[in-house]
Amino acid sequence: MSTQCKPDAHEEVDFVPLCVPEIRGNEWRYMRECLDTGWVSSVGSYVDRFEEGISKYVGAKYAIATVNGTAALHTALLVAGIRPQDEVIVPTLTFIAPVNAIRYTGAWPVFVDVEPVYWQMDAEKLIYFIEKGCFWKNDGLYNRVTGRQIKAILPVHILGHPVDMNPILEIARRYNLIVIEDATESIGAKYNNRMVGHLGDIGCFSFNGNKLITTGGGGMLVTDREEWAQRARYLTTQAKDDPVEFVHHEIGYNYRLTNIQAAVGCAQLEVLDEYICAKRNISLRYKEGLRDIPGLESMREARWASSVFWMYTVLVNKLKYGLDHLELMRNLRERSIDSRPLWQPIHLSPAHKGSFATDCSVAEEVQRKALSLPCSVGLTSTQHEFVIENLLSLGVGFKKSH
Ligand SMILES: *Cc1c(COP(=O)(O)O)cnc(C)c1O
Repeated sequence: MSTQCKPDAHEEVDFVPLCVPEIRGNEWRYMRECLDTGWVSSVGSYVDRFEEGISKYVGAKYAIATVNGTAALHTALLVAGIRPQDEVIVPTLTFIAPVNAIRYTGAWPVFVDVEPVYWQMDAEKLIYFIEKGCFWKNDGLYNRVTGRQIKAILPVHILGHPVDMNPILEIARRYNLIVIEDATESIGAKYNNRMVGHLGDIGCFSFNGNKLITTGGGGMLVTDREEWAQRARYLTTQAKDDPVEFVHHEIGYNYRLTNIQAAVGCAQLEVLDEYICAKRNISLRYKEGLRDIPGLESMREARWASSVFWMYTVLVNKLKYGLDHLELMRNLRERSIDSRPLWQPIHLSPAHKGSFATDCSVAEEVQRKALSLPCSVGLTSTQHEFVIENLLSLGVGFKKSH
């Protein structure tokens, strides 16, 4: 069942991509049905089916499909009541989308660091900031430095691994903050046996091409709150109050997913657990293969977590390995192997200068060393061994001992 173990004895290793979609199920059949019946646009049975499928998968009462994950995050912030000049606490080590979504509402991000072991939002530093860097006034929490009200926490489960959520949920309850999970990189990951995306008040998923399952482009918002679900549906369909005479009471958005995309999503959802299994097998083989390479530190999985290992990432220690992460990336590229560093921590991003940041030194340190390695669901064992052999031979530890 593991796709990486499909027979490939005669295969030549060509270019090994970082992470590409795996389309080999009912995608074509379902999509064809949309085209044959003319149900191609933003209404249709596959949209309903995809929403039901995701809500059941994560155990949430409601799911609303969106055109992409960024739109799901923007909508989540809007239904949570985030307003201009509010603040939302977010980890600095993330793809930029959730931070941009915060700015779309006119609110501001507050950047907190990640912890050094799993590289996820650091609950201890978050709590320290709330208790020392904020004050409580008239039922609201305010940032001492900016004077702005803090309304929500937006943890991002990066690279397939969950954030340690219990301390975050607890402090959020104590200070009346909403928790919006960005689970776009981690669908199917579990925190203490509970699905990520269904731990806080709203969760968001993405079905972009590089994610675990894809619709080409797409997203989903899940919540247990009926009024938020209704409002999300309303805002994502141009806030239409009278569908006959086109009366609108608010400014809405065209954020709906099309039936064609949802059809692909339904087919992908059927194989999600199989893909997660493949990702976990890839991570196991890496862990084993990299154990004896000095200077390469594999990503980890916490006791309380079941990671989906969306993007297999290592820390490269130049002193021990002989190359830094970017030098390794260039050397791998010469051998036809794709790899990629992590995102610039967003508190350093020119696009978000002027936002408030707490101490984010761990994120900077992780980003200076991190490199993501090929980990497509369809990675063959030949490709995988080729990558591991090259990682081995490029390191100084290997050369010295041979
Ligand atoms: C991919 C991603 C998103 C957004 O998804 P799109 O569907 O590409 O808009 C949001 N947050 C994180 C952390 C992501 O990796």
